[in-house]
Amino acid sequence: AKWVYGFGNGTAEGNAGLKTLLGGKGANLAEMSNLGLPVPPGFTITTEVCAWYYDKGKTYPDDLAQQVELALAAAGELTGRRFGDAQNPLLVSVRSGARVSMPGMMDTVLNLGLNDVTVEAIGRAAGDRRFAYDSYRRFIQMYGDVVMGLDHHAFEEILDEVKDEAGHSLDTDLSTEELISIVERYKALVEEELERPFPQDPMDQLWGAIGAVFESWMTARAQTYRRLHDIPADWGTAVNVQAMVFGNMGETSATGVAFTRNPSTGEKALYGEFLVNAQGEDVVAGIRTPQDITEKARLEAGSERPSLEVLMPEAFAEFQTICDRLEAHYRDMQDLEFTIERGKLWMLQTRSGKRTAKAALKIAVDMADEGLLSHEEAVLRVEPQALDQLLHPTIDPAAKRDILVTGLPASPGAACGAIVFTSEEAEEAKAAGRKVILVRVETSPEDIHGMHAAEGILTSRGGMTSHAAVVARGMGKPCVSGAGALRIDYRNGTLSAGGRSLAKGDVITIDGASGQVLVGEVAMLQPALSGDFATLMSWADEVRRMKVRTNAETPADARAARQFGAEGIGLCRTEHMFFDGDRIVAVREMILASGEEGRRAALGKLLPMQRDDFVQLFEIMHGLPVTIRLLDPPLHEFLPKSDEEIAEVAAAMGIDADKLRERALDLEEFNPMLGHRGCRLLVSYPEIAEMQARAIFEAAVMAGKSTGAPVVPEIMVPLVGLKAELDLVRGRIDAMAEAVAKETGVAVSYQVGTMVELPRAALRAGDIAATAEFFSFGTNDLTQTTFGISRDDAASFLGTYQLKGIIEQDPFVSIDRDGVGELISIAADRGRAVRPDIKLGICGEHGGDPASIAFCESVGLDYVSCSPFRVPIARLAAAQAHL
Ligand code: PEP
Ligand code: MG
Repeated sequence: AKWVYGFGNGTAEGNAGLKTLLGGKGANLAEMSNLGLPVPPGFTITTEVCAWYYDKGKTYPDDLAQQVELALAAAGELTGRRFGDAQNPLLVSVRSGARVSMPGMMDTVLNLGLNDVTVEAIGRAAGDRRFAYDSYRRFIQMYGDVVMGLDHHAFEEILDEVKDEAGHSLDTDLSTEELISIVERYKALVEEELERPFPQDPMDQLWGAIGAVFESWMTARAQTYRRLHDIPADWGTAVNVQAMVFGNMGETSATGVAFTRNPSTGEKALYGEFLVNAQGEDVVAGIRTPQDITEKARLEAGSERPSLEVLMPEAFAEFQTICDRLEAHYRDMQDLEFTIERGKLWMLQTRSGKRTAKAALKIAVDMADEGLLSHEEAVLRVEPQALDQLLHPTIDPAAKRDILVTGLPASPGAACGAIVFTSEEAEEAKAAGRKVILVRVETSPEDIHGMHAAEGILTSRGGMTSHAAVVARGMGKPCVSGAGALRIDYRNGTLSAGGRSLAKGDVITIDGASGQVLVGEVAMLQPALSGDFATLMSWADEVRRMKVRTNAETPADARAARQFGAEGIGLCRTEHMFFDGDRIVAVREMILASGEEGRRAALGKLLPMQRDDFVQLFEIMHGLPVTIRLLDPPLHEFLPKSDEEIAEVAAAMGIDADKLRERALDLEEFNPMLGHRGCRLLVSYPEIAEMQARAIFEAAVMAGKSTGAPVVPEIMVPLVGLKAELDLVRGRIDAMAEAVAKETGVAVSYQVGTMVELPRAALRAGDIAATAEFFSFGTNDLTQTTFGISRDDAASFLGTYQLKGIIEQDPFVSIDRDGVGELISIAADRGRAVRPDIKLGICGEHGGDPASIAFCESVGLDYVSCSPFRVPIARLAAAQAHL
C-alpha cells in the first residue's frame, strides 16, 4: 500500500481533495506545490498509518520505513542535501496534521537531523556557526519537550541563566559560544533526567518524532478537543516531514503568519505578523511581540517597528501575490505560514482561516459581491452556530470607561466577570453559576476547559495569533491579548497595571473590540442585526424551504423573535403563563378544587388573564400563525409546598388549610413526568380545555379587529398517545368555537392538532391524523420517552456515556436520528398517508440545533420552532439543509 505522498518542486502526489488521507496541512502543501508556489519539498505520512498504529498495537506497516527513506531521499535531492549526511545534511520539520486543525496535538519539531556533527556542517554551509547552534539549541529543547516528554521550563531556566550571566535581554543577543554552552547544558539535562543521551542518530530522531505525532492524537487534551468539537477519534492524524527553511538566518530572514483578510472584522486587507531572525514557533508562542506585515496595519496600530512591507519589499510583494492567488484558488480567506530565508520566500502552510462570526459574515457577503461566490455558496460559508457570537453584547458607547490597561482586540464582544487566574478556578466558578474572566500571562491548550468556562479571556502576553486569541475567536468568546503593561502575580492572586492593583474575585469588563480592560461592571448594548447579517439572512431566506417559528409565551420574547425573523409561534406553553403573581394562586385553586364547580370558579378568574395574553401575542404576530398548547403542567411544579403557600390558597378557596394540605398530598405523584399531565389532565377536567379555547377564540376575534389581520390560531393538545384522547378534547374545543362564534358573530378559522411526544403517538399517527390537522414533534419528551431516560436526570450520567463512547451526542441536544428520528419519520409518513396536507413541525429544543434541523429537512417537516435567540441560527441552518 501507499503510505507516503511526496511534494515539492512544482508537483505533488497528493492534492487538496485528499484531506481525509493527508490531513489538512498535507493536502494543502501538495496543492500549493502543484500550483508551483515555493514550498520546501517533503512528504506526508497518511492518516491510514495512524489508524494502523492504533489498530495494531502501536506498530507500523512493514513497508513504511522503506517508503519514508525513499521520500526523504527525494526531498534531499531537490535541495541538494542528504538526511544525516556529515558534509551536507538535510534538516527537516515534523508536524502533525489532522483533517481539521486541532490544538492539543503535537504541533511541530523543527531542525530535526541536527547532531554534534551535522551542526558544524550546517554552520559551514550557512557561513554562520551561530545560526547553526541557535537551531541546535532550539531543536534539543523542542524535541526534549514534545518527543521526550521533558518539561520545557527546565530548558528555559538554563536559557535564562545564560542570558542573565551574560547580561542579555534577548535571545538574539546570545553569542555562538554562549549558544554552544546552552547546547551542552541541554544535553546534560536530558541525560540527567532520562538516563540516556540525547539521540544523535537522525533516523532515530525522525522515528521518535513520527511516533510522538501519532501518540499525541490520543492525549487527554486532544481527546477533550475532539469531544468538544465532535471530531471522531478514528480520523487520525497525518505526519508532515518537510525540508527546513530558516527564518533565523540573520536579519534578512524572518518568519510569520498571515490572513488574507482580517479574521476579526473580515475587512479585505492582508493581515498578519512576523518576526525577524526567528523560527515559526516564536510567533505563535508569543515570546517576542511580533511586527505588522503591512504598512497599513502598522500605521493603524501606531507601531514604531517597521512592517515587512518596508523591511523586505521584494519578499513582501511576492507574498502578497501568492496570497491573492491562494484566495482566488480556494475561494476563501486563507491562513498562511511563511518563512523568509535570506530574502527568499517559502510557503509553509495554507488553510481556510478561522474567523469570528462577524468576519465570516462580512467575508461571505463581500466574496459574493466580488463574484467569487454565489449567494448559495455564501450562505454555506457561515456556520449557523457561529451566529451566536453576533448576538453577544457590546459595551454601551455612552458608558463611562475606567480603563485599567489596553491590550490587543483579539476576539470581539464584551464580557464582564470576576477575575480568576487558573482554568480550574474558572470551571469551579462556572459550575457554581458565577461569571468570571480568565486572566493568564498566556494560555496553552491545557486551558481550553477554563476558556470554555470563562465569559472572556485576558492575557498579558502574545499577539493576535497567539493561542488565546485563536482559540477565543473560535469559541466566540471575547478576548483581550498581549496587554503588556499588565503584571500578573499568580502566587498572590493579584494583577496590576498603571499603579493600580486588583485581586482575584474583583470584577472587570473586557472589550474585545477595542482591547480595553475596564474596572468594574460596564453597561452593555445588544447588537444590531443589520448590514451583512441582514444581507446574508435574506439570502438564506431565499433558499430555505422550511419555515422558522419561535417558542414564546411572553410579549417580550415574541417581539424579540419577530426581530430575529421568526415567522410565527410554534409553541406557546400556556402553563408558563401561570407562574406569576396572583395567577399562581388561581392555578393552584383550580388544581386543588375538589369538584367541577370549584374548578370552574378558579378557571373563571384565569380566563380574562389568558385572553389578554393571547391578544398581545396575536397582535405582535400580526396574522402569522400562532400555535397555542393547552395546559401541560407537571403538577408537582404547581402544587403549593410551604405553609404560607397553602394558607394563601386555602384563604382564596375559603377552605381549611389542613384539608388543602391533604388534597395536595393526594395529588403528589411518584413520577410526575409520566403522571397526570398533558392531555390526561384535560381528559379528567375538560373544563380547562374549554376555558383556554374560549380565551383563544375571544382573543382571536379581538386581535383580528385591532390589527385587521385575521388570526388563525392553531390549538395544540399535548402528550397525546391515543386518538380517543384527542377526540374528547377536540370535541370541547369545537363546541367552544361554535359558542364563541354565536356570541360574537365572528367565526374564527382555526386548526386543532397534537404534539407527537410519545412513541405510541408516533406509531399510531395514522389514527391520530384523522382528528389532528397538524403534528408538532415534542422531541424533548419524545427523546425522554423513547430512551426511557428522564430529561431532568440525564445530565448525571450522559456525560459518562459520552466519555465512554456509548453515545456521541447528548440526544437531548442533537436529535438521535436512528431511534427518535425513525419514530418521527414513521409518524410523518403515517400522518401524511391519512391526511396528505397535514402540517408538520418540531418544537422541542432540537428545533434550534443545526444538525437536528438538517434532519427535519430530510423528513420534509414544514417548520421548526425554537427559542427566540436561536431563530437566526435556525434560518441559516434550514437554508443550508436545503442546499
Ligand atoms: C417537548 O416535549 O419537546 C416539548 C416541546 O414540550 P415540553 O418541553 O414543554 O414538555
Ligand atoms: Mg413535552
